[in-house]
Amino acid sequence: MGKLITLHLEERTAQVRALLAAAQAEHGRLVYSNSLGAEAMVLTDIIASDFPAIDMFSIDTGRLHEETYTVLEKLQHRYGNRIRLIAPEAAALERLIARQGVNGFYASVEARQECCRVRKIEPFRRAIAGYAGWITGVRREQSAARAGGELRAWDAEYGLHKISPLLEWSEAEVWQYIRARALPYNALHDRQYPSIGCSPCTRAIQPGESRRAGRWWWEQSESRECGLHPRPGRQAAVA
Ligand code: SF4
Repeated sequence: MGKLITLHLEERTAQVRALLAAAQAEHGRLVYSNSLGAEAMVLTDIIASDFPAIDMFSIDTGRLHEETYTVLEKLQHRYGNRIRLIAPEAAALERLIARQGVNGFYASVEARQECCRVRKIEPFRRAIAGYAGWITGVRREQSAARAGGELRAWDAEYGLHKISPLLEWSEAEVWQYIRARALPYNALHDRQYPSIGCSPCTRAIQPGESRRAGRWWWEQSESRECGLHPRPGRQAAVA
C-alpha cells in the first residue's frame, strides 16, 4: 500500500477482502459488475490484486463517454484484460432504434426505461448468468434508494446473491484509496460528474445538488435508477 493509506483505510480494505472471501467460500462463483466509476477503481484494484477467481464485466451500452473508454484502457494496461465487455444484443438494439429513434429515450420515462432495458438490463442478465453472486460498488450515502442496502443480500430480482463491499464507505474514503494507490479514474470526475452513466443521460452537477442529480436529469427523482438496483420493497425491473 502507498504511504498515504491510513490505518483506518487499511482496516476498511481488509473488511472488503474478508467479505469477498467469505462470500466466495459460501456461495461459489462471483462476478463483479464494474461500473467504471470511482468506486469501481477501488474494487477493481482489490479484486484484480487478490481475487483471481472473481470475474469482472462492464456493460458497453454503445453510448458511453470517450473518457470512460479511456479509463477502461488504463485499467487494461494496469491489470491486463480482466474486464469483459458486454454489448447489447444487436438485433434488439436495431429494433429499439427503429421504434424510438436514436435519441428516443428523452421522449418519456417509458422510452428511457426501454432503452436502459435493451442497452443495460438485458446485457446484465446475460453477464450474470451461471454465477452464484454479483458484486456491486454501491454505497449507502449515494442516494436515498441505496441507503437501505445490505452488505450481503439475496437478490430476488435476478436470482443470485448481491454483495456490496463498499456499502459503508464514504466518498472521501474512496478518493483516499484512489490517491494512495495512484489509480486511474475517469477524467469526468474532475469536471463535476460524481456519477457517470451514458453520455447523453449524464450531466455535470451544480454546487449543492445531490451526487446523482446529473443522471437522467430531465426526469423526476423517483424514476432515476437504471433498474440494476431497484428500491427496497419494490420489484421494479427498471426503476
Ligand atoms: S442511460 Fe440513457 S442511453 Fe444509456 S441505456 Fe439508459 S436511456 Fe439509454
